[in-house]
Amino acid sequence: MSNEDIRDVVVVGGGLGGLSTAVRAAQLGLRVTVLERGEEELYLCNSRFSGGILHIAQHNVLEPAEQLEQVILEATLGEADPALARTLALDARRAVGWLAEAGTRFIKVGQIVWQQHVLAPPRPITPGLDWKGRGPDVTLRVLEAQLTKAGGSILRGTAACSLMESGGRCIGVEAQSRDGKALQFPARAVVLADGGFQANLQMIGEHITPAPARLKQRGAATGVGDGMRMARALGAEVSPLNAFYGHMLSRDSFTNDKVWPYPQLDELGTAGIVVNSDGERFVDEGMGGVYVANMIARLADPLSTWAVFDEAIWNGPGKDARIPANPHLVRGGGTVLQASTLTDLAVQMHVPAERLMLTAERYNDAVAQGSSEQLSPRRTSTRIAARPLREGPFYAVPLCAGITYTMGGICISADARVVRGGGDSISGLYAVGATTGGLEGGSGAGYVGGLIKAATFGIRAAEDIARTIR
Ligand SMILES: Cc1cc2nc3c(=O)[nH]c(=O)nc-3n(C[C@H](O)[C@H](O)[C@H](O)COP(=O)(O)OP(=O)(O)OC[C@H]3O[C@@H](n4cnc5c(N)ncnc54)[C@H](O)[C@@H]3O)c2cc1C
Repeated sequence: MSNEDIRDVVVVGGGLGGLSTAVRAAQLGLRVTVLERGEEELYLCNSRFSGGILHIAQHNVLEPAEQLEQVILEATLGEADPALARTLALDARRAVGWLAEAGTRFIKVGQIVWQQHVLAPPRPITPGLDWKGRGPDVTLRVLEAQLTKAGGSILRGTAACSLMESGGRCIGVEAQSRDGKALQFPARAVVLADGGFQANLQMIGEHITPAPARLKQRGAATGVGDGMRMARALGAEVSPLNAFYGHMLSRDSFTNDKVWPYPQLDELGTAGIVVNSDGERFVDEGMGGVYVANMIARLADPLSTWAVFDEAIWNGPGKDARIPANPHLVRGGGTVLQASTLTDLAVQMHVPAERLMLTAERYNDAVAQGSSEQLSPRRTSTRIAARPLREGPFYAVPLCAGITYTMGGICISADARVVRGGGDSISGLYAVGATTGGLEGGSGAGYVGGLIKAATFGIRAAEDIARTIR
């Protein structure tokens, strides 16, 4: 094989993580090829579907780095890898600046502090899936144009299957073309950016839920864990795999595309209570919507829960999100039960009325006395205030857990090098974006931010490869 046949970098996956890596590498003079399994011009991926908000744990990425580092540690209950937390806090500002220089446009959404860098044009305020021509889609097109201009390329319809290895070093990728042809891509460095394992029902069943088909895929469902499988074959370490980024959604989302990925129902579920089919609380709603979605997923039947709330919540927090449940859940045709008493509501929900009444009474008493932390399960109120279910009409919405991407994955260093059990890195192998672990997840299902993580570590991977090759 001549040197001409060996690329400097092969990137697996053309989402924001993969394209940020590829464009930065090409800018640094490296010969780059992106392998993308999707065949379409606008191949689907979570980056293209996303809401386009670049934030760190719902904070502005321009806040001082020490503050952002603290925010990441708080969001993850101190379980984030400190080196990754520090790196993201320090480099997020640079990543946003780099994206802007590469031609990405941002807008600010009003005064909302964590929505000061939203990929433009933003999503319209409508329920359902609507990504074409929106900021994230435009950003991927802009990055692809930059890549091509700098001499790189994307091979669509090309799925990476395994890594090539020599003497413990990664030396390329084996792949399959859309017509089933086996291909080899020798490379000095390989970057895995395949987006997680949320759409691999077997893995989801092993690590996240006893009922994988009962989670709603709240994304492009293109992440099937290929990167993690390939990295593990070379000895990579993986972080705990049991947490995902997602939200509470209407249970109707399985049959109605107008009620996902938006509106998400976190504001309703966390301002009110979430109950199971016995009419009982089973989760600390105050931990936030991502956490509650994870706990719903862990139930024997993740399609058995309800958000229960009152008029004040429906007209308060219910209107809070960018695409709020009130009125977009109703507009999208989602089920919203309503009754003047909780007893009548329970009848419509087919849950035992006395149990639901007792649950609400205990909850209301605890909130009134400021002792909701003593409830079982407790209801913390440090992140989200606990509100009583005071006056009717009362409402119930059937819930499901929508899984967007898995937060556990391949362990990496601050320069996105894939690490082995002992802590040393696998030469020539990198991973970025939602296929990586260590930063997000943990026991509190801490969410930090998928887009900023993908771009920041993509840029760092490219720069480390350039340094190493030279
Ligand atoms: C509805 C929705 C809203 C969101 N909103 C936000 C938001 O506002 N802010 C935020 O920070 N995050 C948000 N996210 C999360 C964010 O989109 C992701 O975390 C991020 O885009 C992940 O980027 P990635 O490059 O790692 O993966 P992806 O964008 O998923 O790209 C991975 C690519 O790899 C390809 N691939 C997979 N396997 C192979 C293989 N074997 N060979 C070749 N190619 C392969 C896939 O086809 C895909 O194109 C949202 C996600 C969704 C779905």
